[in-house]
Amino acid sequence: MNPLTSVNFYITSECDSKCKFCFSNHGKKRLTRNNAIRVIDMLRKNGTQKITFGGGEPTLHESLPDFVNHANSIGMKTAIVTNGSKLNEVIQFCKPSWVALSLDSGCRATQILIGRGKANYISRTINLADKCRSLGIKLKVNTVVCSYNIKEDMTSIVKRIAPNRWKIFQVLPTNPSARPLEITKNQFSKFVKRNTIKDITIIPEDINAMCQSYILIDPLGRFYHSDIRWPHEYSQPILSVGVIKAFRQVSFDFNKLKERGGIYEW
Ligand code: SF4
Repeated sequence: MNPLTSVNFYITSECDSKCKFCFSNHGKKRLTRNNAIRVIDMLRKNGTQKITFGGGEPTLHESLPDFVNHANSIGMKTAIVTNGSKLNEVIQFCKPSWVALSLDSGCRATQILIGRGKANYISRTINLADKCRSLGIKLKVNTVVCSYNIKEDMTSIVKRIAPNRWKIFQVLPTNPSARPLEITKNQFSKFVKRNTIKDITIIPEDINAMCQSYILIDPLGRFYHSDIRWPHEYSQPILSVGVIKAFRQVSFDFNKLKERGGIYEW
């Protein structure tokens, strides 16, 4: 299988949340709409089947619906990873195959403490999940486990949302402000065990599973290493040197992507 099968394109660094573990620090510059579409086309020609748009908060990028519609039109499966900010508006203009809603807690105070949520974050996430489902969009929940939510039982809230997949990540101590939130692998395993839900596919990813198992592209169309390097290290721009030459400049392990369940029925 082509290693470029599934890629993540982080189209903007702009975000309206302030998660303490955020690892998006690519600066304010980004590609123009047309150049971002050229990157999507180049990825497709080089074997990409699924493209996930993230950020920053991708729904704050005014061209996100164009990117999703274009990727759909050239035969890609599409996904948006979002805190939900402008998702309601975005899905009026495009239909991604998947939406991954970030949710780290069923407790309002914890969600606020982490920095992702405002007062209505949890109820908004539930409403958005219901809306996506009614439109035939498949759902994921993405949860980052850190020292703030490590003792939590999220099974009630996740059962209410009823995603097709629940991705549970051990917090990555990349950003220096994330280091006080670090947890051990053992603590992470206990969280996963406590939160296992029959009938919901759970994908737990500890730090080792995540490192070098994602193909990441920044808002300037450069690959970067998916590990704990900080600041990030980037390839040359895809638009300057092409997909293959740029891709060879970063470390990526396709076997690790397969081992963490990164290839599934899209
Ligand atoms: S929602 Fe995502 S991009 Fe925004 S601050 Fe949180 S982790 Fe960073």
